[in-house]
Amino acid sequence: MLRQINVGVKSVADYNSIVSRDLMTEIRELATTIQGLRVCHVNATSFGGGVAELLYSLVPLMNDVGLHADWKVMFGREEFFNVTKAMHNALQGSPRGITHDEQRIFERYNLLNAGGLDGDYDVVVIHDPQPIGIRGNTPDLDAAKWIWRCHIDLSNPNPEVLEYLRPMMAGYDMTVFHMAHYVPHGTIPPAMIVPPAIDPLTPKNMALSADDAAYIVNQFGLDAERPLLVQVSRFDPWKDPLGVIDAYRIVAKQVPGVQLALVGSMATDDPEGWEFYNRTVDYAAGDPNIFILSNLNNVGGIEVNAFQTHADAVIQKSIREGFGLTVTEALWKGRPTIGGNTGGIPLQITDGETGYLVNSPADCGERVLDVLHDHDGALEMGRRGKQHVRAEFLTPRLLRDWLRMFTQLMGR
Ligand code: UDP
Repeated sequence: MLRQINVGVKSVADYNSIVSRDLMTEIRELATTIQGLRVCHVNATSFGGGVAELLYSLVPLMNDVGLHADWKVMFGREEFFNVTKAMHNALQGSPRGITHDEQRIFERYNLLNAGGLDGDYDVVVIHDPQPIGIRGNTPDLDAAKWIWRCHIDLSNPNPEVLEYLRPMMAGYDMTVFHMAHYVPHGTIPPAMIVPPAIDPLTPKNMALSADDAAYIVNQFGLDAERPLLVQVSRFDPWKDPLGVIDAYRIVAKQVPGVQLALVGSMATDDPEGWEFYNRTVDYAAGDPNIFILSNLNNVGGIEVNAFQTHADAVIQKSIREGFGLTVTEALWKGRPTIGGNTGGIPLQITDGETGYLVNSPADCGERVLDVLHDHDGALEMGRRGKQHVRAEFLTPRLLRDWLRMFTQLMGR
């Protein structure tokens, strides 16, 4: 059954000094037209991955500006998450489809969770494919407006899986994608384009002094005096941690003593994570300068912050990436950032301007060497990256976009 998440309290006024006055004014004006709007967000996990990250900030801020926003997480067992992971991979282009039995499992859990969606809501926002089928099983909530918020790249999907989901999508009043080319071809409800954002005031993104960052990194057995490369992401083939190790090996030949930290949480809706974690550990082959860490080593938000803040270069060598909040996080810390040339990463990194875009482990290794050899140039690039994030990818802009969509949907 759906489980309500306690998100605590945040105040939109705290962002006054971080983003523009115009943006803050627009937020307040939009909010006055939809005071008391009852909104429910539904997704598949409250821990690990970008969607949970977004909702922990967005939901309390929606409440702070006068909406009544809830966040509910669907119930699923391993059999369900195995199906939704296969579905996720298929939607990102994997040829492996979904069998009939898997479809039945998917539908059964969606039906079960729909029964738990009680409460009178004006707007229900369903995040990603896992709970997409709830809409078709909630006739009591026909009066509400339904939004499907897709966080993944649907530009090159496995067509069978997309067609399986299309009738479920049809029940929504609006869909929302990170980028225009993620919107699937064919008939779907009206699509809005809204990239995600990071919250600059969470422990993960707040300013951390260089000394504090070094102190935290030291506690994990790294040497804070030696160069450090960092990738923060789930253990997932699309994030290419093995490619990162290859890139590190290229760098290590020229920069002896360089260290690599692969920091990756184990999300509860990601059963593949363990298998790929083990493959990554095997691939590192006991190299004492490679550190593979996760929430199981007590790596939480503040530790992720410390690793990103202390890194000489942050890597996000994804092969597919819906948006890549880890890239936003690194840029916000002013770090030289090297990202795979895919998905939402080029929206954040202009090659050579705000970071580097790479297409292979060899490319990645070369760019890391460039960063390590040109310290001042890399820092300047990091500064430009931070300005870009400040203008485009912080939570108040995302809150404003949601308020605009709600206003439009409610015809106010
Ligand atoms: N993350 C984390 N700890 C980890 C790995 C990831 O807190 O060990 C966070 C990361 O900082 C980011 C989010 O999980 O905020 C991942 O979002 P992203 O868009 O990069 O990728 P997704 O996991 O959604 O594909």
